[in-house]
Order: sequence, then structure tokens, then C-alpha cells
Amino acid sequence: MAFSDRELACRDCGSSFVFTAGEQEFYATKGLQHDPVRCPSCRANRRTLRPDEREDAPSYGVFVSWGGRTPRQLHAAQCHECGQTTEIPFMARGDRPVFCSNCYNAVRERQEAAELAAQQRLAALVSGAAAAPMAEEPAEREANTVVPARE
Ligand SMILES: [Zn+2]
Ligand SMILES: [Zn+2]
Repeated sequence: MAFSDRELACRDCGSSFVFTAGEQEFYATKGLQHDPVRCPSCRANRRTLRPDEREDAPSYGVFVSWGGRTPRQLHAAQCHECGQTTEIPFMARGDRPVFCSNCYNAVRERQEAAELAAQQRLAALVSGAAAAPMAEEPAEREANTVVPARE
């Protein structure tokens, strides 16, 4: 059976590609009944996008995270709170303290408590102002009211 080059349309990108006589012959010897549905570059893309489906999946070594699909590198950093060495999934920057997971929870609780206290102070201030008797010169007061700049 003679094969001749055929032009096919890629299912993914829609561009046409040539299914050569040689490839058709190769497909036939493999017992494949179907024409390829994707152009070579889309086929290559799919392969790189789904490495876990390849038998020869590339190994990233230390970049492989446990069970995760995204390669992730851990960086050693020193906990700002207790001084222990901990591993974090990002590069430590000088402008931000790094905490180990134990200290992080404690620090976060402390921060949340501080924020809550600040909010309560602000709320008390606002309700106190609203409850306060009107000043003698309400018009002037209003004119002088400045919206506090947010930080
Ligand atoms: Zn394509
Ligand atoms: Zn710590």
C-alpha cells in the first residue's frame, strides 16, 4: 500500500501540518488506525505540560516536592523568633523576618490580636465621637474634618 503526504489540521492550534508518507507507514506498522490529531509542536507541548504521564518523567531532584506537581525548591532560613533553621518555599529577603512553622502561628496570633485591639480602639474612638454631644460650632468642625490618610 502506497502512502502519500497528507495535510491535517491540528486539533489544538488549528494550524495545518503534514502527515508524511513515512509517518503514515510508521503508524501502519504500529497498528494505529487513527491519524494524529495534533501538530508536532502541540504534541511536544502536551508532553512538557504533563510530565507525570510520561514514563521517562524528568526528575528534578531536590526540586521535587512531596506529592506536589509543581517543582518547588526549599530554602534554608533562620527563624526570626527562635533562631532555629527552617525551610521555606521562597527566598528569604532581608526586609521580612522568617519564622519556623511553630513561631509563625504564634506570631500570627499575636499580630491578629494586635490588629483586633487596634480595630477595637478605633471603633471605640468612632462610637465615642458619635456619642459625644455636638460641638458648639458644628459647621466649622465639619469643615476641619480631614479624612485620615490610610497607611
Ligand atoms: Zn498545533
Ligand atoms: Zn521559630
